[in-house]
Amino acid sequence: MNTPAPIKLIDGKAAAARVIAEVKTQVAAMKNQGIAPALTVILVGQDPASQVYVRNKVLRAEECGIRSEEHRLPADTSEATLLALIGELNADASVHGILVQLPLPAHIDETRVLQAIDPLKDVDGFHAENVGGLSQGRDVLTPCTPAGCMRLLEDSMGDLSGKHAVVIGRSNIVGKPMAALLLKAHCTVTVVHSRSANLKELCRQADIVVAAVGRPRLVDADWLKPGAVVIDVGINRITEGERSRLVGDVDFDSALPKVAAITPVPGGVGPMTIAFLMKNTLTAARLQQEAPCPSIS
Ligand code: NDP
Repeated sequence: MNTPAPIKLIDGKAAAARVIAEVKTQVAAMKNQGIAPALTVILVGQDPASQVYVRNKVLRAEECGIRSEEHRLPADTSEATLLALIGELNADASVHGILVQLPLPAHIDETRVLQAIDPLKDVDGFHAENVGGLSQGRDVLTPCTPAGCMRLLEDSMGDLSGKHAVVIGRSNIVGKPMAALLLKAHCTVTVVHSRSANLKELCRQADIVVAAVGRPRLVDADWLKPGAVVIDVGINRITEGERSRLVGDVDFDSALPKVAAITPVPGGVGPMTIAFLMKNTLTAARLQQEAPCPSIS
């Protein structure tokens, strides 16, 4: 009798549906206590991809019972106007999460804008206070994509303690916070990037590979240790013949026979990112209830 092959595909859609179900239940419980979690998304300009992302975030929030609001500002909005809006939203106790959709137009300083968001409302986890808190191993609002990757890894492998993880990419939104989360989970972490030597050899030593590069199918079976678990964050649109399709940073077909588990693209990390935005909005609402009232001087 043939033994069934173990399930290798990490189903991000199913995992995200479980996170959304948890959030829905907790939002309902919070509403029973008189608190209605609310998310505000700000979009500056008409970038088509950003418009789709914002729409999806708002729709997913509504599905969770989270009150959501969009501010669509013209591309020539001044930095001062944007900062003033963020200031108003910071002061509005009925708004729990503030997300500024990136990228911003070139005339606006992204860092200054992200730093203007109240760290307790920073549902993207990009404020320096949250970045610092994460690197100290504290429980803070954490970037959604790496947080989603961690849930997929823990669902698939259980305790990650002592595993060697290689993170390919060192961006502020994925690579660096991913490395910090893996360290927090007691992994041995190697971060590699475009200037790293011996990339393939380093990857071959990894029990866990997280690819967040933006290079279609950079990582193939030859880069992977047998039995590794692979999280493919990359989203790359390629054209094959007359067809255009999305692929990850990992060559899925070559990697699949060799790995213990792998995320597909699409349907892997992507759905988790938005699910963790909902989770972060709920966490932000909780943190704001727990925060001491500002003193009146
Ligand atoms: P960035 O472009 O900000 O960072 C890419 C990183 O990859 C950099 O650190 C860069 O190195 C490194 N890199 C580039 N080329 C190579 C190479 N040949 N070898 C090794 N390292 C290399 O991208 P992001 O982190 O924002 O995103 C990465 C990918 O993840 C993209 O495809 C993006 O679309 C996707 N993404 C998916 C999300 C999801 O929800 N699924 C969410 C966010 C991103 P260096 O620092 O030296 O330049």
